[in-house]
Amino acid sequence: MKAEEITFGPLAGKKRCPGDSTHQPFAYLPVEDFGRHRSKPDGLTTLCRSCHREANRRWRAEHPQHEAEYNAARRAPDVTHTCAGCGSEFRGRPNRIYCTKACKHRTHERRRYHERKGETDGRTGATSDR
Ligand SMILES: [Zn+2]
Ligand SMILES: [Zn+2]
Repeated sequence: MKAEEITFGPLAGKKRCPGDSTHQPFAYLPVEDFGRHRSKPDGLTTLCRSCHREANRRWRAEHPQHEAEYNAARRAPDVTHTCAGCGSEFRGRPNRIYCTKACKHRTHERRRYHERKGETDGRTGATSDR
């Protein structure tokens, strides 16, 4: 049974938030004030948006280590790649694909040229048929 769900009366469309960031604890708030949460029975987060933000802020303040680890992961060491454009080896961030911006640009230009050529050929063929 969904205890929090109210479908009639003056509190219809409202939901209680156990937080107290910008309101009294367990105040009834419009459901629009809650974020979406698919795995919850009512499809909404337990806390309203502002309490959710506040909880996140507090959690981060209490877990500075997590923040540091997250940042460390983002500053992942460079790895060796094979360039998707020219095939040469280079070192760079794990998400890199091309050795240089210029190489990426060149490869894209080349691809676009071939695609355009293919399109034009097809169109020309179709026209000459008529
Ligand atoms: Zn709240
Ligand atoms: Zn390259």
